[in-house]
Amino acid sequence: MTFNKTKLGKIMKKGKMIILSGPSGSGKTTISHCLLSTFPELKFSVSCTTRSIRNNEIHGKDYYFLSVNSFISKIKKYQFVEWEEVYPKLFYGTLKNEIFKIWKSNQHVLFDIDVKGGLNLKKKYPNNSLSIFIMVNSVKILKERLIARSYKNSNDNEMNLNIRLNKAREENDYAKLFDFVLLNNIDLCQTKRKAIQIVSNFIHK
Ligand code: 5GP
Repeated sequence: MTFNKTKLGKIMKKGKMIILSGPSGSGKTTISHCLLSTFPELKFSVSCTTRSIRNNEIHGKDYYFLSVNSFISKIKKYQFVEWEEVYPKLFYGTLKNEIFKIWKSNQHVLFDIDVKGGLNLKKKYPNNSLSIFIMVNSVKILKERLIARSYKNSNDNEMNLNIRLNKAREENDYAKLFDFVLLNNIDLCQTKRKAIQIVSNFIHK
């Protein structure tokens, strides 16, 4: 899909983006499902990844699952608005076209993205983005959630628990750079309510 400058300018004036970031296991996916079912004007940005597909995932809905070669080819063609090696040898990235396609359909974009990627998007789109950091400040809770998830996804064996936990510690240091920080230790209902309130204020202002 290609866009001429005027057309893209118009689309970008209207389109907004909501960036959900935070460590793996913080509850981003749950919050993002809650927001998508609350606001029909939101659409999930499907990222590309080179990690292997989990039992419950669908190509094109959860991620575009790509080989490393095809991911690299998209980097070379400047097709990503941002990409990161989120875990060693595992790449994740957002396609420019994914964002434009959503804005073109008069919807706002919802991202579930790692902290660096989230901050990069915020820097690129400072005027029409809302960034929310989902925080779990208890290593014990985070560990329990990650273990529960790895049981559900028996083929999730590359997801090394310690790598994810160490990354979580680092990521929490960046929370202050986000527009909002939502603590999601225990009371998921309250976190969902707060997220809905923040997003509603942003998209309806
Ligand atoms: P998972 O493998 O658990 O689905 O995701 C691992 C991490 O990659 C999560 O923190 C998720 O938010 C992040 N992620 C997903 N898509 C993207 C993306 O397009 N870009 C970046 N930078 N991170 C992403």
